[in-house]
Amino acid sequence: MKRPTGKAVSLRRGDRRFDMAVLATSFSGRDPGRRPDVYVQASEVSDVVSALRQARDGQLKVSICSGGHSWAQNHLRDGGLLLDLSRLNAIEIDPKARTARVGPGCWSIDLDRALRKHDLFFPVAHAPDVGLGGFLLQGGFGWNSRALGLACESVVGLDVVLADGSQVHASAEQNPDLYWAARGAGPGFFGVVTTFHLKLHQRPKVTAMVMQVFHERWLEDVFTWAHEIGPSVSRNVEFQLLITPKTLFTGKSGVEVIAPVMAASWTEAREATAFLRRGPLRKHASVTTPLLPLSTMRMSAAAGQTHFPPKMHWCVDNMWTDAPIADLLPGLRKVSDTLPPAPSHALWLNWQPSRERPDMAFSMEASCYFAAYGEWRRAEDDARYQSWATERITEMAHLSKGIQLADENLARRPAPFMQEANRRRLEQIRGHYDPEGRFNSYMTAA
Ligand SMILES: Cc1cc2nc3c(=O)[nH]c(=O)nc-3n(C[C@H](O)[C@H](O)[C@H](O)COP(=O)(O)OP(=O)(O)OC[C@H]3O[C@@H](n4cnc5c(N)ncnc54)[C@H](O)[C@@H]3O)c2cc1C
Repeated sequence: MKRPTGKAVSLRRGDRRFDMAVLATSFSGRDPGRRPDVYVQASEVSDVVSALRQARDGQLKVSICSGGHSWAQNHLRDGGLLLDLSRLNAIEIDPKARTARVGPGCWSIDLDRALRKHDLFFPVAHAPDVGLGGFLLQGGFGWNSRALGLACESVVGLDVVLADGSQVHASAEQNPDLYWAARGAGPGFFGVVTTFHLKLHQRPKVTAMVMQVFHERWLEDVFTWAHEIGPSVSRNVEFQLLITPKTLFTGKSGVEVIAPVMAASWTEAREATAFLRRGPLRKHASVTTPLLPLSTMRMSAAAGQTHFPPKMHWCVDNMWTDAPIADLLPGLRKVSDTLPPAPSHALWLNWQPSRERPDMAFSMEASCYFAAYGEWRRAEDDARYQSWATERITEMAHLSKGIQLADENLARRPAPFMQEANRRRLEQIRGHYDPEGRFNSYMTAA
């Protein structure tokens, strides 16, 4: 078990290290110009309690960050107190009970690595350094989530510090409305989660991946085929298409067809991914890899290096869609034709939701997920690229049911992210637990 060390850090605007400490909280290299008045980096739960009392006494709004992977940099607001939980990253595993207690600052890859020693598994995020805090609160599409459910479905309880500094536990039995809200409220949650209590799963015996690469001239054929076959693809395959200006192996603009699979045996893994090898388009693929054994940690590390390098400037937007493929194709083609340079990309994910979800705040999904990620290195290019993702998704918005909070961009483009009834209930629960509005809610356009 890792334990935080050292004292809490507390800085005020104007202090020498203030700017550096505030900007270091963010995965993004972009400085949005917004600054809190006070920055507190907690080292233990009592620091969280003290910070909330300080905020109450000073009438400061509170924003929170754990892993700092909010694309929108939701935690960076003007004024108020920023509470950094990155050092609350302890992992405590009970292999017999198949449960774990983890801090919100714990990275996805660290939990995955720790669980591997016990042959256990949790659907952590696909990039190594995504913090469990924000990931679990917004729902969490993790490794093998099509089979195991959203990661928040495996959260059985949470320790939360409320706006008045009191500490409570939330679960199906205790504070069930807070538990309901914590599974899907994402960046609009109104408490500080200091520990997540997780239900663990058996680690799949085989983790592997197969990949095909197509030149961009095959884009329409590949998407049409993927839409047709998507509903029949086994739930243990994360079937996804990446539109990229620089495909792996060829370096040309095109579509990468990727199929990670988690299975009980090689026979099962081969059978589940056979639709790719036997697909009608295989003859047009520039490359088809064999089914390669790859741990989730290797796949996460590779995704981090190739698609999500740190300290880049980003524009991101997304949509859930049930639209017919013929209606989507013009928008997909335009995304491909206008992508900013690599590693910018767009992701189409064959989701096909399970009908059985628990009653929780998370309530927006559709058969396919589509997200556009523009990335560039230099601040000078902000003006050129920063609207790209919003423009492309806005053009397709009439085909969308709503958005996922994982890749939210509400400050640029407001869109529904839960069912209306759930949104109303969430606001009622907020009113009960945070009556003075101490916590910042969703960062929407003013
Ligand atoms: C490279 C990359 C890869 C990603 N991959 C995936 C993926 O595979 N699947 C997926 O579902 N999502 C993915 N995401 C989205 C990611 O899950 C969300 O951005 C998530 O919010 C990140 O969590 P964090 O703790 O790192 O971020 P933070 O920026 O620290 O948190 C985001 C927001 O969540 C709230 N919050 C965070 N911690 C707490 C807490 N302890 N208590 C109360 N509120 C809190 C705050 O409002 C905060 O502003 C990815 C994002 C990136 C940048």
